[in-house]
Amino acid sequence: MVDAGSGTKDQFHRANANLDTIDLIALSHLHPDHSAELPAILWTAGGSFYLSGPTPAGVFPSIENFLDSMFGPGGAFRILADRIDLEVFTVDTAAANPVDVWREGNILVRGTGVPHGDVPTIGYRIDFPDVSIAFTSDQNGSNPSFIDFIQGVDYLVIHLASSEDATGFIAELHAKPSVWGQMATAADVGHVIVSHISTSSPQALEESLTILRSNYSGALTVGEDLMCFELN
Ligand SMILES: [Zn+2]
Repeated sequence: MVDAGSGTKDQFHRANANLDTIDLIALSHLHPDHSAELPAILWTAGGSFYLSGPTPAGVFPSIENFLDSMFGPGGAFRILADRIDLEVFTVDTAAANPVDVWREGNILVRGTGVPHGDVPTIGYRIDFPDVSIAFTSDQNGSNPSFIDFIQGVDYLVIHLASSEDATGFIAELHAKPSVWGQMATAADVGHVIVSHISTSSPQALEESLTILRSNYSGALTVGEDLMCFELN
């Protein structure tokens, strides 16, 4: 599971997925819309998990402190303490190179820091023997080394949270549609999946997609709730 934003638990079930099948919970960053559902997921699933998250900075705690604040001895959800067993891995978001986060059989998950304002944030790439998928996470697209990280992926899940004419805070944290398109083209991505769509205006979304498509000519799917992909 990559990220655990609000609503994730119920939607996971509605998509006919099973929480019991989760081995790895890979958090990109600790903004609530990416992490706030974690207690409900763990409460329902129980068991052992490998959990990865970012290094601390500013108002953002370490992943250990984040978990302790909920599941530790004084934590708000300490009722879960004897129900879950977490093995925690911290991805140094300031490191120059990607790191291996998790490996099981011939599945390899790697992570790397991505520029999301002052928020420590991880982008993930998952390589199976015959197919690969990467998650940009929230980021502004300003680090060219991320293109190397996602080079040649079959599927790239992008977070479309900024319009082309955004300014200030939004633009500092989130890549514009043209930037996503240029990134996907430069990395020779097979299929872009647009997620984390911040606008509720169909017209504004279409404008952003038009700009994205003018910078990227490959396959593109606009994600919707409960959408499933067979990776092949
Ligand atoms: Zn964010």
